[in-house]
Amino acid sequence: MTNLFKNALVQLQNIEKYLNISADILEQLKQPQRILEAAIPIRMDDGRIKVFTGYRVQYNNARGPFKGGIRFHPQTNLNEVKALSFWMAIKTAVVDIPLGGGKGGITVDPKKLSVYELERLSRGYIRAFKDFIGPNLDIPAPDVNTNPQIMAWMADEYNQLKGDGNLGVVTGKPLAYGGSLGRTEATGLGGFYIFSDLAKKLKLNPKKSTIAIQGFGNVGYYIAKYLHQAGWRIVAVSDSQGGIFDKKLKGMDPDNLIKQKKEKGFKNGCYCIGSVCDCKNYPSISNQEILELPVDIIVPAALENAVNEKNVNKIKAKIILEMANGGVSPLAEKKLLKKKKIIVPDVLANAGGVTVSYFEWLQNQQNQYWTEKEVNQKLGQIMQHAFTDIWQIQQDEQVDLRTASFILAVQRIVDSMKAKQ
Ligand code: NAD
Repeated sequence: MTNLFKNALVQLQNIEKYLNISADILEQLKQPQRILEAAIPIRMDDGRIKVFTGYRVQYNNARGPFKGGIRFHPQTNLNEVKALSFWMAIKTAVVDIPLGGGKGGITVDPKKLSVYELERLSRGYIRAFKDFIGPNLDIPAPDVNTNPQIMAWMADEYNQLKGDGNLGVVTGKPLAYGGSLGRTEATGLGGFYIFSDLAKKLKLNPKKSTIAIQGFGNVGYYIAKYLHQAGWRIVAVSDSQGGIFDKKLKGMDPDNLIKQKKEKGFKNGCYCIGSVCDCKNYPSISNQEILELPVDIIVPAALENAVNEKNVNKIKAKIILEMANGGVSPLAEKKLLKKKKIIVPDVLANAGGVTVSYFEWLQNQQNQYWTEKEVNQKLGQIMQHAFTDIWQIQQDEQVDLRTASFILAVQRIVDSMKAKQ
């Protein structure tokens, strides 16, 4: 199994030469400030007790409270959560919001649980880590296989245990329980803003460009929706069950696809039983083939290492919009950059999610509700600012966009760490 945290450290190593970082600060940056692992015993519906392993990694809080999602996945492991927490610290610094980086997860296939087991597990996670999270300490959010319902259970459990009624302990909550308008769409919309700025710089024409998206969950669906609305042609999409390809290259309507995908209903009220493969109008394609299509842009929006050493030589697209965290492995990236491909890195492309999570936290702290227009406008400003900063660094230093993003973010983190010395 790939050690994802090693990949993350390679990225840090790659930018050391651009910054004047002292050895003691570097030493601190190379490891999380705190690693938590807990056994979470859950009473299953049949009366048995089953024990799940949960993680919370708090990477760096030099710029503000730790912040990052919680993933429920059978392959979730400590190295993955460490890498994801590191990228959260970089991401919050890229968009310059006053938060640090953390991440959590449970090794579980949540689709095999009943809704009551899922609720007990979500609440169990909070019981295990309640003394280490909090609105000013560490603020969890959704990630793969976690959603507003799960966030509501988690926020409620925390508040029952602590009794302080502060909803800012978790973001990505439902609107009826302290959530923010625009949060569900935010990661996709943020990615769309970044891509639109890039397209302007490169003078890309939506009508003449084709896009394939791997992963049609929260992030994949929303980015597809905004791209489609702006006239870009989405010609292939996939999810964990496989994909579909519009061979005529006319472009698919993501809203039609999601409607058909949802027709079979939801397992335990949370997870789509259907797949994009249920859309019979299009021929099927595998999850591997989708990344290798002769399209202009590919968007990995599922899990890490989608573009890796094995398939890198088959990638034909000129642009890779990395919506999935760690979607491109460092070795694959090296090869792609040699071929002059453009990679928009995860820490920039998907930073819209944490940005609106920050807005949700702010609204909770101030007992306010912002309009959707206000949320999206503020998100647009922050994303545009980040893109402009990073584009400038890329030009000045003659580097790729990931290196430029890391230069910007690590300098900001180091400045905050140094200010306290
Ligand atoms: P999700 O659970 O809503 O959707 C994941 C999608 O990927 C599903 O459609 C699933 O079927 C599909 N999938 C799973 N395995 C696959 C495979 N092997 N091949 C193709 N598709 C597969 O999760 P999400 O929230 O959309 O997260 C997707 C990615 O975006 C993750 O890397 C996550 O860390 C990242 N991300 C999410 C957010 C957020 O706000 N949700 C924010 C930043 C980054």
